[in-house]
Amino acid sequence: MKPTTARQSDQPLSTAEIIAVGTELLTPFRSDTNSLFLTAGLNELGIVVRRKSIVGDRVDDLAAAVQSALGRVELLVICGGLGPTEDDLTRETVARVLDRPLSENPAIVARLQARFARRGWTMPANNRRQARVPAGAVALDNPRGTAPGLWMEHLGRVIVLLPGPPRELEPMFTGLVQGRLAAQATSRRLYRRVLRVAGRGESHVEERAQPVYERWRRAEPGVETTVLASPGLVELHLSTRADSEPAAAAVLDGATGELAETLGDDLFSTDGRSLPEVVGALLARERLRVAVGESCTGGLVMARLVDVPGSSGYVEAGIVAYSNAVKRAVLGVPPGVLEAHGAVSEAVALAMADGARRVGGADLGVGVTGVAGPGGGTDAKPVGTVCIAVAGPGTAEVATTVRLPGDRAMVRGQAARIALDLLRRALLRGCGGT
Ligand code: ATP
Repeated sequence: MKPTTARQSDQPLSTAEIIAVGTELLTPFRSDTNSLFLTAGLNELGIVVRRKSIVGDRVDDLAAAVQSALGRVELLVICGGLGPTEDDLTRETVARVLDRPLSENPAIVARLQARFARRGWTMPANNRRQARVPAGAVALDNPRGTAPGLWMEHLGRVIVLLPGPPRELEPMFTGLVQGRLAAQATSRRLYRRVLRVAGRGESHVEERAQPVYERWRRAEPGVETTVLASPGLVELHLSTRADSEPAAAAVLDGATGELAETLGDDLFSTDGRSLPEVVGALLARERLRVAVGESCTGGLVMARLVDVPGSSGYVEAGIVAYSNAVKRAVLGVPPGVLEAHGAVSEAVALAMADGARRVGGADLGVGVTGVAGPGGGTDAKPVGTVCIAVAGPGTAEVATTVRLPGDRAMVRGQAARIALDLLRRALLRGCGGT
């Protein structure tokens, strides 16, 4: 299924496929990350990736994959299998499919020999294979490894071969391939914006946002929206094609503004910032300091807060009070409250938040207590029950109980995220009294 019709030279490259070559990528131990990097780089040029595949080190499988891809798209990027060993067969297979004889390129041999000589070694005979170039191909220099890349054109299709190791592939793609592709791609690039929503499930967000993004999808120029959900976080990825950054920004601003209106305070980020970054910015703006008292999250809330550079400007203390004894002795949770409500209760979460605030001398306190599982659940408080509270002046005080799905790691991760979101919402209410 070789392409029968040629792409006209004035037709911009707009569709691509990626083939990752390597039997190790078909095992559970290695994943193909190169295609993610390549997709991002191609999208920047307005080139859409239509299909990705992973093929083991087998000539027939690779030949079939190359042939069928060339029947579908204008650009084919193949990564891996350019090494010196017997199972590195990408170069030979592509040459065979395109019917191009291979010949040794003396300049590449000399470069490889010099590379080995710099280390005081003689080049193994195997490496000469890497100097074999199909007729009409352009070799792409690889300063970080031995395998040169290759750029080929065939009936208006472009075929690019890149080495497998990401530290070799990435600079080669950015430095030597992207510019060549840009010369043949459309001037209309793809621009993206990510909107982040906390505290709502995917279907809830979808229900509210869908009428808005459907309208923008049909607009001219259109905005495509992809919804990505992970526990406790929903992302809306907006993308549009435009000739320039300001033109794209104008369209994306319009769609973002309407989505912000319908999503309200649930939408916490439209500029790529994470939840801890947004919380940190609010604390800094209000000149408030926070302390955290954690049980089941074991320091996760604190860890996320201090992940953000500059967090010493608003984080005062984090206390992990796992046992009831430490909840009483360090955070001052009254024994009567523990007895009356149990360790996993809103009353104890509030007392922990208040205790952290007092011990840390902070303006605001956050308390988290729950059953992360897999053991320890009861009928009244099953695994996944987590109580979270914020203590502080004015309208800050709030406590909530959630039932979180998933295993121990998921429960703890979601609990930390909800705690940060509760703090964010308290800050939006202007709890500091400022
Ligand atoms: P080399 O000269 O190093 O042999 P090569 O082009 O033959 O280069 P491979 O042998 O296919 O590359 O892969 C070398 C290593 O690169 C693999 O062990 C793997 O760690 C990494 N690698 C290969 N392909 C990918 C991929 N698609 N995504 C991420 N890593 C990859």
